[in-house]
Amino acid sequence: MRSPVTNPKRITILGSTGSIGCSTLDIVSRNPDSFVVEALTAFTNVELLAEQARRFRPSIAVIGDPSLKDQLSEALSGTNVRVAAGAEAIVDAAEHPSDLVMAAIVGAAGLKPTLQAVRRGTTVALANKECLVCAGPLFLAEVEAAGATLLPVDSEHNAIFQVFDFDRSDAVEKIILTASGGPFRATNLSDMEKVTPEQAVKHPTWDMGAKISIDSATLMNKGLEMIEADYLFPVSEDQIEVLVHPQSVIHSMVAYRDGSVLAQLGSPDMRTPIAYTLGWPNRMETPAPRLDLAAIGQLSFEPPDTERFPALKLARQALQSGGTAPTILNAANEVAVDGFLNGRLGFLDIARVVEATLCNIQRERVENLEHVHTVDDRARDAAEHIIAQI
Ligand code: NAD
Ligand code: MG
Repeated sequence: MRSPVTNPKRITILGSTGSIGCSTLDIVSRNPDSFVVEALTAFTNVELLAEQARRFRPSIAVIGDPSLKDQLSEALSGTNVRVAAGAEAIVDAAEHPSDLVMAAIVGAAGLKPTLQAVRRGTTVALANKECLVCAGPLFLAEVEAAGATLLPVDSEHNAIFQVFDFDRSDAVEKIILTASGGPFRATNLSDMEKVTPEQAVKHPTWDMGAKISIDSATLMNKGLEMIEADYLFPVSEDQIEVLVHPQSVIHSMVAYRDGSVLAQLGSPDMRTPIAYTLGWPNRMETPAPRLDLAAIGQLSFEPPDTERFPALKLARQALQSGGTAPTILNAANEVAVDGFLNGRLGFLDIARVVEATLCNIQRERVENLEHVHTVDDRARDAAEHIIAQI
């Protein structure tokens, strides 16, 4: 049974050392009377996790890599913070009572702990889009069964959440996801073939973790977001449009049948959507730079180029195919992005690996979560095999 939300709100951050995790703690630190931190988890950045735990004094701090447990225990000796390590301990941390869980682990690795939080019927602020892409319908069924509340953190989905008329969803004609276009929006194909990881992680408007930065450069991020939007909002696939908007000021829009278009605007600072979920249904003060439209002068728009950015097309096809296709797309992309970051693949090979993996693995109807994990593993093996042949 879900316990009433306490004041201050008790929060758990899965992936506290990442870009979203750190921005979440920034908001928490500015509102010390509104929040207590219950649990923090990280994968390998033990120094930052220890520093955060010393500062915010959670009940539990978990490091994913078990070989770093002693180092964490030592760094937190003399505190009351309970230390644990390993993937299962992260799932346990998600199960620990709290009023809100910020799901900010990157990749399908976040699926098990995020689901554990969902199962106890709490409020989940969802940044980890891959876990929804990987297991969408099953994930949503668990949300429904547990009576959990899902609040989208992703700026586009948070924007839509703010302007979508959920009581009259048949009045919605379409939703328009905006995309910055990434660092190679205006780069030609032959130059794109040669870009380095250092160039690709430098996003023009947002400051983010490495994986999502590469996804933004290939536009796979927008593809994953299209799938995420299809699961989160009562619209069909053909009602989801993508529009390139390089200034990242309009975070997304909802178009209604009467011709009205409602948008949410703001500076590109994730602390705004994060604060929206932390305070929901109330709005909180944030230090995000205020939007100065006169200084910006012009907002521009263009259609996405699916020839130079085929990832967008692949994601659309995976969404249309349904079943395990989005799971395969996501797993192959995680492996390919890793291959690019480690110098084993060229930039344009990322989408090639994803496409080849989707061709190699038969799409199936999703049976259950075990099946999702099996397909995820199978797609990772297939993608590795394809990379080895490039
Ligand atoms: P990041 O790489 O900066 O941080 C990832 C966090 O997850 C770290 O705390 C890391 O320790 C943890 N982690 C990584 N692998 C793990 C594993 N195998 N097991 C357990 N923990 C693990 O990533 P980020 O940019 O903060 O993004 C996090 C999620 O939020 C992603 O799904 C991303 O798509 C989404 N998101 C991020 C932004 C952004 O602005 N950064 C915006 C929208 C959505
Ligand atoms: Mg986004």
